[in-house]
Amino acid sequence: MVQLGDKHMRLIQQTITLRGQAVHVALAGQVDEHYDILRMVRNSYLVSIPVLLGVSIIGGLLLANRTMEPIGRMTRAAQTISIRDLRKRLPVPATGDEIQGFAVTWNEMLARLETAVESLTQFTADISHDLRTTLTVMLATAQVSMKRERTAAEYQNALQTIMIECEATTQLLDDLLAASRTDVEHQNIQLSLVPLSDVVEETCTHLQARAEVKQQSVDIGVEPNHWIEGNLSLLRRLITILVDNAIKYTPQQGKISVRLYSEQRNAMLEIADNGIGIAAQDLDKIFKRFYRADTSRNRDQGGAGLGLAIAKWIVEVHRGTISAKSDSTMGARFRVTFPITQG
Ligand code: ADP
Repeated sequence: MVQLGDKHMRLIQQTITLRGQAVHVALAGQVDEHYDILRMVRNSYLVSIPVLLGVSIIGGLLLANRTMEPIGRMTRAAQTISIRDLRKRLPVPATGDEIQGFAVTWNEMLARLETAVESLTQFTADISHDLRTTLTVMLATAQVSMKRERTAAEYQNALQTIMIECEATTQLLDDLLAASRTDVEHQNIQLSLVPLSDVVEETCTHLQARAEVKQQSVDIGVEPNHWIEGNLSLLRRLITILVDNAIKYTPQQGKISVRLYSEQRNAMLEIADNGIGIAAQDLDKIFKRFYRADTSRNRDQGGAGLGLAIAKWIVEVHRGTISAKSDSTMGARFRVTFPITQG
């Protein structure tokens, strides 16, 4: 590169041999125009890059703000929701993206929590009422008996009343304990080969006395020699819950039937009654904890809505299934399926 006055030249020179003579060739070209173009390009970059950078930063911030705005609204709404306020829901942005899905999922979860808290609150109220009633009855019975000298028969009567109340309360507390254990004790249940036919027969015979109080007939039809992999005390509890419900929800002189038979590779246990039955809309809910089909009628009979939830858990521990059928004319029919271990 050489400079001639104010002009910049690019120079190429070389010595060549032309017809035996050494010739020095020099070629020069002006490059100022190229430099001008390069300078123009550099200057335009110096201006355009910061402008583009600024525009993209501002655009990005605006876009992020627009995206974050619904999340901000949801966060503010979530901060106002407490256990006493589970009716509230998060605002659902109509964005049609993951944020909308997120808000909908949260609202569904809030609805489930609301239902659970409502039934727990109702349940606590019911249980407190039950326990208070029981204690009041026992206290009143004892106080009345102590007021003056009584005959032996009167004392026996009073003690009988207190005993019945104690039994009902123990049953209630047992159910509560069993229900709270169902969450944690799935894996720790010991299973062994159990003679299901004998267990059904024995437990039902045991419960027959309760049915006799209501002059109900219990028809027991059990095929012999059905064995399953199971837990003896849980199976007894399951049968007791189902037969006890049949007795509770069937009027005086009603009929209860218990059947055990095999179908394919399963042992089928069916407990049916001709009692008040279960309304169609309640059939899929009765296995939920604390669910009682008709609150007023069941309170009188001391139910806490835990029996069938425990029954379902016991059946699941035995890898079986449980279902209920009913209509107002035929009473209720509960069917339990257990996989057979040995016929
Ligand atoms: P509860 O302690 O109230 O009996 P369960 O969980 O055992 O609770 O039963 C749930 C509800 O299912 C009961 O409140 C009752 O309404 C209904 N139910 C259960 N078994 C029967 C039955 N054999 N006949 C009619 N209704 C029944």
